[in-house]
Amino acid sequence: MSIVVQKFGGTSVADARKIHLAARRAIRAKMEGNQVVLVVSAMGHTTDELVRLAYEITDRPSKRELDMLLSTGEQVSIALMAMAIQEGGYEAISLTGAQIGMLTDSAFTRARIRSIDAGRLHDQLRRGRIVIVAGFQGVDADFNITTLGRGGSDTTAVALAAALQARMCEVYTDVDGVYTTDPRLVPQARKIDTISYDEMLELASLGAGVMHSRSIEFGKKFNVIIHVRSSLTDSPGTMIMSQPPGMEDVVVRGCTLKRDIGRITLVNAANRPGLVARIFEEIAARQLMVDDIIQNVAAGGDVVQLAFTVAGDDLREARLAAEAVGRQFDVAQIEVDDQLSRVSIVGVGMRSHAGVAARLFSTLAAENIRVHNVSTSEIVISVLVGSADGERALRAVHAAFELDREPAAT
Ligand code: ASP
Ligand code: MG
Repeated sequence: MSIVVQKFGGTSVADARKIHLAARRAIRAKMEGNQVVLVVSAMGHTTDELVRLAYEITDRPSKRELDMLLSTGEQVSIALMAMAIQEGGYEAISLTGAQIGMLTDSAFTRARIRSIDAGRLHDQLRRGRIVIVAGFQGVDADFNITTLGRGGSDTTAVALAAALQARMCEVYTDVDGVYTTDPRLVPQARKIDTISYDEMLELASLGAGVMHSRSIEFGKKFNVIIHVRSSLTDSPGTMIMSQPPGMEDVVVRGCTLKRDIGRITLVNAANRPGLVARIFEEIAARQLMVDDIIQNVAAGGDVVQLAFTVAGDDLREARLAAEAVGRQFDVAQIEVDDQLSRVSIVGVGMRSHAGVAARLFSTLAAENIRVHNVSTSEIVISVLVGSADGERALRAVHAAFELDREPAAT
């Protein structure tokens, strides 16, 4: 019998009516002859509310206790979901992360999954039950409750689908799929029918908020087909898979805008060996994530301008890191720019098509938009632009690559 994993996000279980709707969907999948596993998030904004409560008590809540607290949200919704399914006349059982042997490391608030005890789940499924698993949570080797990071229920769902060799992982949410870009910023944005794991990973890490990045990594590793779709309709959403049809023909699959990027520049640093190493030691020690690294060596090579970008939230810490190194390398001045955004285009088709970068730059030029830096990888080109230009750049790029049009059939 084939196994289907259905994941319902917070908005899809926000109240009793929605829980009943989700339960009905699970029952339908069961009636169609599948073994059904549900993964649910906490109801509505419960998790935010719990975080807020913690910070009402203290500015520095212990991460272990945060996880203890946050995991309660999902425990509420799995119990209610089981009741709703039982009310519909079907057998159901709710299980916490610990109860399904969702073993993680001990990195509280951002734990990584080590293993899952699929045997227990199979056992329940064989008894004909719909199994409802708490998303987002696990347990470490010492039985401490852990969580997988905000949005982590997606990862629970895909990991379960992998462990159970499910036919499909359906992710039900309040949007009807993955879009070519954020439709709130670009009304012409279009729902994508199929997308590769690699493209989806890039879109997720570049700020398209639909799926938890780690869930896509799992999907890719274990080849789980992920169907992101609306909990309100029956229309198909977006299929995330390894080889979407006509994959190489679509040059650009989507584009993103990430706001609030900060840049730190070390002006006139002495270009001695070890400069870059020292900066990145300081950054690593503070667990900051750096995106762009921009280095200019002036004629002669003794003096260097070294800049790097971080998320705006990390700017203060990043400045401290730069200052710690600045004294050692005779840095004249440290400049901080907090008015930047990053526009990126993503597509596996870029590997086999020339002229993509040229089209991007001429589009921005035609809009009279200044480019502060360019970074590329195999399937992504990103440009740093001023915050004030971000949305306009995104719209222009979306139009230039005709993302509002259905990709040509092959
Ligand atoms: N409830 C958790 C959160 O809000 C996990 C999830 O919804 O995926 O982050
Ligand atoms: Mg989510």
